[in-house]
This record gives sequence, C-alpha cells and structure tokens, in this order.
Amino acid sequence: MHNLPKLEYAYNALEPYIDEQTMKIHHTKHHQTYVDKLNVAIKGNSYLEKKSAEALIRDLNEIPDSIKNAVRNHGGGHLNHSFFWQLLKTNIPVSVELSKVIKENFGTFETFKEEFTKAALGLFGSGWCWLVINENKLEIMTTQNQDNPLSQGKVPILGLDLWEHGYYLKYQNKRNEYIEAFFNVINWDKVEENYNFVNTEF
Ligand code: MN
Repeated sequence: MHNLPKLEYAYNALEPYIDEQTMKIHHTKHHQTYVDKLNVAIKGNSYLEKKSAEALIRDLNEIPDSIKNAVRNHGGGHLNHSFFWQLLKTNIPVSVELSKVIKENFGTFETFKEEFTKAALGLFGSGWCWLVINENKLEIMTTQNQDNPLSQGKVPILGLDLWEHGYYLKYQNKRNEYIEAFFNVINWDKVEENYNFVNTEF
C-alpha cells in the first residue's frame, strides 16, 4: 500500500517562488490521486504490491499489459512527486564538490542552467526535465507525462515538474518564469546526496 509522503516543510516555505496554494493542491490533490490510482492498479497482485514505486518504474517491462499504463502513469506520478518535494528548499547553494562535477560535465554552471532551461522550455505538453546520471556522465533530458528516466536505465538526481498544475496558478503560460524561479528553490544538498548515492551504488 503506497501512501502520500509528508512534506518536510510548510506549504508556504517556498514563497514567493512557488506559492502556497499551488503547493497545497499539488501535494494533497494531484500527488494523492497518483497514490490512490497506483494502489487500485496493483491491488490483488501480491508480488507488485510489495514493490516500491521506484522498483515498479525501473522494471516497467515486467508489469502485465492490462495494468502497465496505469502503473506507468500513476506509479510514475507517485515516484516523481516524492522525489520532487525533497528537491525543494530555499537558500541552499551548490557545494564546491558538486559545482566541480557540474563544471566537468557542462563547462560552467551557467551553461548547465541555460541547457536545462532550454530543455524545459522545449518540452511540448506535460512532463519533466531531469538532470540524470547516464554511464557516469551527467545529462539533461526530458520525459513526457509521468515517465521517469529510471525506465530507460538513467538515474535522476534533479527533476522539475513541468505540468501546468505545478505552476499555472502563479505563472499561467509563463513557463520560463517558473523555471527561473525553480533555480531559487533547488535543494542542492539533496541533489548532491542523490549524486553521491548513485556513485556509491554503481
Ligand atoms: Mn505535478
């Protein structure tokens, strides 16, 4: 049984970059719905019921066809949002260590930010923009809907929700302003933790 994770901060903690009402609806309504629909999809399959959302999404090809789309969309939604909430915090600068890794992969931090922003703006419709580890290199990529890079064997360390439900109340059609605001609330300590975890794992 999957459950909605509690946020480790108040709904207004990311103001003015991400507003309280958006955070509240996003967490209690949108994320809750992904959790509920995932639980419905895997109900009665005792093997799948025991798996984490991460394992379900990593091993999507083993999901029976009859529920594959539901697990992909709602399991992905649950996984992506659980990941996303932990990536948000104000005033967490990039550490010297992580900064070095970003520079090794992108040249400068500004280049990384430009490439991430370009990719995020270029995504048509709903989806996510990611910073992933792929064969020991950092890459920027986007996915449609609630797809997660794990299903392609890539490991995300940073992700941005580009569904309109994540920004429309405050930013309407101005996705560029939302992306710019996101750079003020990235919890770089968490990104670094994700990076180090992956590097230890593999
Ligand atoms: Mn969302």
